[in-house]
Amino acid sequence: MNRADEELYTLVLNKECTGRKNLALGMYVHVPFCSTTCDFCAFYQEKPSKKGMDSYFGGLRKELKRFPPSQPISTIFIGGGTPGLLKPEQLDELCSLISSFDLLPDTEWSIELAPSEITPEKLEVLRNGGVNRISLGVQTFHPKFMDALGRQHPVEKTFQAYQWIRQAGFDSVNLDLLFGAPGQSLTDWEDDLAQAVALAPDHLSTYCLTFEEDTAMFVRLSQGKVKIDPEREAEFYEFAWDYLPRYGYEQYEVSNYARPGHACRHNLNTWAMNEWIGYGPSACTQYQGIRRKNIANLEEWAEGMHSGNQPKFMEEEPLSSSDFAQDAVLFGLRMNQGISLPQIAGQFDLSLKQFSAMAKFLDCLVSEGLANQLSSGNYSLTKQGRILCDAIACDLPDLLPAS
Ligand code: SF4
Repeated sequence: MNRADEELYTLVLNKECTGRKNLALGMYVHVPFCSTTCDFCAFYQEKPSKKGMDSYFGGLRKELKRFPPSQPISTIFIGGGTPGLLKPEQLDELCSLISSFDLLPDTEWSIELAPSEITPEKLEVLRNGGVNRISLGVQTFHPKFMDALGRQHPVEKTFQAYQWIRQAGFDSVNLDLLFGAPGQSLTDWEDDLAQAVALAPDHLSTYCLTFEEDTAMFVRLSQGKVKIDPEREAEFYEFAWDYLPRYGYEQYEVSNYARPGHACRHNLNTWAMNEWIGYGPSACTQYQGIRRKNIANLEEWAEGMHSGNQPKFMEEEPLSSSDFAQDAVLFGLRMNQGISLPQIAGQFDLSLKQFSAMAKFLDCLVSEGLANQLSSGNYSLTKQGRILCDAIACDLPDLLPAS
């Protein structure tokens, strides 16, 4: 993690160290429309229609009124779905709804856009509306893998969209890349990375293709048409870890890289187990000690917002300080900076004694070459450990109860 981002991360954590009243607050808005479904996609989304858009905006206006953030917002992320499917006037309304709340002066405000939906007019609306960071869903520059993933945009659209984004004056741009598509070689992956770097974005997210249930890719997996190859996936991960820092993109998390000062603050806020409120169908919230997920059905969600009754959630659970601390360890270990058990204990008002089983487990990882002990109670994963971070997360011991 570079110096500017290290300071940023410390700031995010320190807000929490002052007690759980002054948490940095994130806002997530889910726009649940996609014209087609990518073969790997497990996110909730619907085909766009006039009726659906009306339900969405009606529900969103109500939801923002019923569950307003009770403190200034430090990060905003508009995701989907495909938020870029909204018309300029709808994007304008979305921005107005969001900016009617108290936003901190340096709020990071991102929107996810698919290359084929971007127009100069929409970008102008977004920029005037307050958005200051664009996350472009590139996935790959190779048409054959675009087909394999069920993505629809021609590669030229990516270049055109990127040029328009810069011309519109956005100085913080992320590119999302996906690796591990069936048939993709390391050379293909290197070419994707090289093309991404040549565009000079400020941030890169590189995700491994996953096979989620109820996706076309999962069906192909169950039919034996594609297979999971963890060794090959590890090679792709390691290749990017070595490649991108050579071009000024410092890795700060297993799948994320940034130029100095461009680490995604919304993600840092989430991984530090601060708070965020999610709006829109299927959006998740972690706020005032409760984690919940909105209903993943546009009509039901909108109806719930319009009725005077408490809306139903798909999941809703109160979390204890230990639950938050456990997740802070889990997500913190994915960060290159690693974790500080004393800091997490202070953050969640727990005693360091409650972390003794955790510390023992982390000491074992150190002896196996999977983690480094940076100083007393401070650990980060080694490269080998980061390859195994999902397995390590499953094996983390629970924090001990307070004695
Ligand atoms: S654009 Fe994103 S949300 Fe829509 S189908 Fe593709 S992966 Fe899923």
